[in-house]
Amino acid sequence: MILPNSTIGVFGSGQLGRMFAIEARKMGYRVHTFSPDAGTPTGQVADFETSADYNDLEKVEKFARSVDVVTFEFENVPSRAVETAAEFVGVHPKGEILHTTQNRLREKNFLSQNGFPVAPFRHIKTVDDLYHAAQELGVPSVLKTAGFGYDGKGQQKLKAVGEIENAFENLRGAEAVLEAFIEFEKEVSVVCARDQKGNFAHYGVIENSHANHILDISFAPALLPEKVFAEAVEIVRAVAETLDYVGTLCVEFFLTKDEKLLINELAPRPHNSGHLTFDACVTSQFEQQLRAVCGLPLGATEFYSPCAMANLLGEVWADGEPDWQKALEFREVKLHLYGKSEARPGRKMGHLTALAETAEKAVEIVKLAKKSLMN
Ligand code: AMP
Repeated sequence: MILPNSTIGVFGSGQLGRMFAIEARKMGYRVHTFSPDAGTPTGQVADFETSADYNDLEKVEKFARSVDVVTFEFENVPSRAVETAAEFVGVHPKGEILHTTQNRLREKNFLSQNGFPVAPFRHIKTVDDLYHAAQELGVPSVLKTAGFGYDGKGQQKLKAVGEIENAFENLRGAEAVLEAFIEFEKEVSVVCARDQKGNFAHYGVIENSHANHILDISFAPALLPEKVFAEAVEIVRAVAETLDYVGTLCVEFFLTKDEKLLINELAPRPHNSGHLTFDACVTSQFEQQLRAVCGLPLGATEFYSPCAMANLLGEVWADGEPDWQKALEFREVKLHLYGKSEARPGRKMGHLTALAETAEKAVEIVKLAKKSLMN
């Protein structure tokens, strides 16, 4: 068991690590973040910040020797860095899970081989593969690079067979996956945690809407038939068990019009759709990660009330620093900012949450609060 006053190593230095560090420091832990950057969202609240390339294995070793356990907030950490750290200290979730989930093809193969529902997909290595796959899956379909994909990065919608040559060229030799286009009714996610003894905790189902492939609004509980709600949680429990997962895990789903759940993606870490647990739940997704990686019991996941979250992307800064007072005039609204100095379009800068008697009401308030910042 890793007790307060110990040091938690975190690979990655973004807002997920920042909120993790806030929870860890609240409980008396020290935090050491490792990433190529300096003055980062995580580094600003951590006790120690190492700025080095993930492939600098000497620095990785030094980092690993200086901490009591390692976790991550960013899944594209090179496997070698994680393997090196694991020679000196415990790493949770384990490196194999990172390896599986950092590549869409490996992840989809893992899911389908274990009987979990995913959208039909094909492995694409050549332009002929793509012609074949497009014939089998039909158009529209979605071409995604296997590696380094999130927030729609590395994604192209294939609308017609005539676009194949061009789409293939855009891959620039990268391995890819063609996925059937899913006419979904809605997108939902389940954030869960699993501890070292195999205990499982979850936050129910969260409903998500995206704008330009980036999460825009999340709310909980999702508006779903009870049966679908229970089914989503059971799938996630089984995924976590199959992976022998330790830490916080998010599973994103498409819900089809005939109420079928398909897994879109796994995130082996706290997730943007779970940010609302920071304000709305007895134990946040970040504290749950901390507890799990330290070998502590998981905390209660009850919600104090329904909740909604709105992301604040760089666009909100289009006319300079937003007038925060306006959003804070909504008494139910909480403001989270990640300490990023440069507001680029599409960059996640912060978020707002609102608690209300119903999820619909919370969504309404959080949208109004966000709108108040934008004019
Ligand atoms: P991803 O980066 O795979 O999570 O995709 C980002 C967003 O693109 C998803 O949340 C969906 O809104 C959309 N999307 C991705 N794949 C598909 C698909 N196969 N069918 C329909 N929409 C998709």
